[in-house]
Amino acid sequence: MINYFNQQIQNIYASRKALAKEISQRENKVLLYMHPKFDELLKIKKQTELDIVKSKSKGLDVSTLQASLDGTNGDIKKYAQENNLQFTPPYLCASCKDSGYIDGAPCECMRQQYGALIKENASITSLANFSFDDNKFGDMDIPQAKGMNKLYSIMNDKVCNNFASCKWNNFMLSGASGVGKTCLALATANALLDKGVSALYLTAFEFVNIFLDKHTRKQTELAKKADYVSECEMLIIDNFGEEPIYKNVTLEYLFSTLNKRMANNKKTFICTQLDGSALLNRYGEAFLSKFTDKKYSLSVGYITGENLRKS
Ligand SMILES: [Zn+2]
Repeated sequence: MINYFNQQIQNIYASRKALAKEISQRENKVLLYMHPKFDELLKIKKQTELDIVKSKSKGLDVSTLQASLDGTNGDIKKYAQENNLQFTPPYLCASCKDSGYIDGAPCECMRQQYGALIKENASITSLANFSFDDNKFGDMDIPQAKGMNKLYSIMNDKVCNNFASCKWNNFMLSGASGVGKTCLALATANALLDKGVSALYLTAFEFVNIFLDKHTRKQTELAKKADYVSECEMLIIDNFGEEPIYKNVTLEYLFSTLNKRMANNKKTFICTQLDGSALLNRYGEAFLSKFTDKKYSLSVGYITGENLRKS
């Protein structure tokens, strides 16, 4: 789990606890009204406890009072058992009592909350459904089928199923329009989200708009995404190369984001229609080499083939 969502998770658990407390107080009131004898026993208990504190402060012997308190506690327990009275707050998660943790480790309910948060934040608009199971290249007789099939299995097995130990940090998928790049990127994002990995899918256009708002200090929903762009574990930028180049914004934020992400061992996946020389012209050698260095990058040759969007 990444720190980006800490505050939101804390707020969720604080409100869950407050709600449970409120409900239990309301229910306890009703309970006491219906069981006046029980109410009486609780008052005796409270009074005895007060007497013990008072006597102790005067240095008096409290053994008689203590015996009386033990007796009252016994009566309270007996009455509650006989009448099946429940005084535990109605926790949404009984395992962790809505604290989110069991023995210092995140409870299953917190994993679910976190899973919902990363899915809510996975894109600017809603993230299209496409999974590795939806890959149809295996049955297709088109030029890019074999290569795309291989890429699907690499992204599924070596990246998504082994995310923590995956040696690649940067991924570049370049190819002609409609060969199937976006579908593979979506399948990757959805598979990671299902495994609880924070994946963020953006078009390059959205990326630039986020940083344009941040740069001009606009307090927009887009600008608020800027930190997540740096912190998410897998950043996918689609339609790379189609974004406008704004002076002091586009290239500057692209480079600084990528550097920050690489320094923190975060993965970045770029899909582009531009070929090597077009990328070189537009972004320069230093940037391009980060996606082509085989030590930490996975990039394949320019993919050509049938345009699947035409039918
Ligand atoms: Zn729990």
